[in-house]
Amino acid sequence: MQSANSLALQELNERRERHKAELEANTAKVRSLAPEYTGIEADMMRAGNSLLRSVLHGGKDFEKIKSFIEKNQSEKIEILKRLSLPEDYLDEKYDCENCRDTGFDDNGLKCTCLKELTSKYIDINSNMTELMKNQTFDNFNFSLFSPVPDSTGKAPLDIAKSAYDKAKSYADNLDVAKPRNLLLKGNAGTGKTYLSSCIGNLALNRGKTVYYQTSYKLCELMENVKFGKYETPEEQQGGYTTLNYINDADLLIIDDLGTEFLTQFTAAALFDLLNTRILKNKATVISTNLSLEAMEKLYSQRLTSRILGEYKIIQLIGQDLRKNIF
Ligand SMILES: [Zn+2]
Repeated sequence: MQSANSLALQELNERRERHKAELEANTAKVRSLAPEYTGIEADMMRAGNSLLRSVLHGGKDFEKIKSFIEKNQSEKIEILKRLSLPEDYLDEKYDCENCRDTGFDDNGLKCTCLKELTSKYIDINSNMTELMKNQTFDNFNFSLFSPVPDSTGKAPLDIAKSAYDKAKSYADNLDVAKPRNLLLKGNAGTGKTYLSSCIGNLALNRGKTVYYQTSYKLCELMENVKFGKYETPEEQQGGYTTLNYINDADLLIIDDLGTEFLTQFTAAALFDLLNTRILKNKATVISTNLSLEAMEKLYSQRLTSRILGEYKIIQLIGQDLRKNIF
């Protein structure tokens, strides 16, 4: 896995290479269709060098060289016209004129195109699916929840509203939220994953790096890394790994804690990951079907107490939303 910034710079590099190859192919085509162009090219090259020398030496023969270049330019355009090719056929082209696809403008500042590409890769690196990308606070559908109190005496709609408000306030204040982490608890289909997506999307919109993964896959990944099974050859050779990204992401979303294949190793690795993120002051959102009692039974005392001490808990209960959706 590569960081969003290095993926963005790599894409800019590919753009430059593509334009360079296009220009080379266009030039070769003109040279073969109009052999006299080769001479004009050589003249232009020499004249360009002379012009530079002239500027460096106080402008001697500047006008003469300039008009020579202009004459060559018109000859070049005449050739292109004759070949029915566009006038800019032999010009260097860029996807972004502002930075000429370097990612930085003339003042050395990050160009908008680089910023946009970086967010594109932050989005891709987040591992959130297209479906999850549509699960936003704005799209939250309260009509799925009944306003009628259930057997517990509480209306699912009230519970959903309260959970929504807490999750929204957490996501709005991600940088300063205390505690830094959130545990979304509830039965399957009560909207936990939906709310985690809402938080993830809001964070992405604000330029945060996010990583989403199910607890099952996350533990599998940690297990694989332990046995030296990396996702790409670059990772194998000591490059930046998905686990590095997971450790560094501003927000980590672990879905469905309790569904992982729990071994002594994964339990310890999970604790290390959550603990490291707490120490680094990074935000983590966990969703789970497990009750606190079940968590205490399943995980070590220290993992459970770390979660209880450092996580804000949002309890979601109510009917299975998927019954309404499908
Ligand atoms: Zn640019």
